[in-house]
Amino acid sequence: MKEQEFSALCAKINGALDVRDVIDLLDYNADKAIQSGGLWRLYCPIHNETVFRTLVINPRRNTYFCEYSACPAHQPGDLIELLSRVRQIHKAEVVLTLLKKFGTEKLRLTVEQGKLLKAHTHRVIGKV
Ligand SMILES: [Zn+2]
Repeated sequence: MKEQEFSALCAKINGALDVRDVIDLLDYNADKAIQSGGLWRLYCPIHNETVFRTLVINPRRNTYFCEYSACPAHQPGDLIELLSRVRQIHKAEVVLTLLKKFGTEKLRLTVEQGKLLKAHTHRVIGKV
């Protein structure tokens, strides 16, 4: 699988994710997350924020960014990238975790796409 195809499938998976599931996968206490103005706000686990909920997740676009300008997450990204950053694992490993947890149907992939992604991921991370 070419990097371009991998990115396209990542975008598809990202669009299928439920923000609440992603918050769970961050090992984040969901009670601390609040919804405000159609956005989710969390204490940023990337720069270990404890005072302000600077991490903003947009559930319509499934993107995130941190309002703190010195945080590496200040540049916006998608939820797969967020999981990759917080769990400190490769994006391909995030995809594998998501496939195992939710299956292809929930991620709106064909069985064939799921197989291709698994094979690609195993090549990239060289295990499992
Ligand atoms: Zn941050």
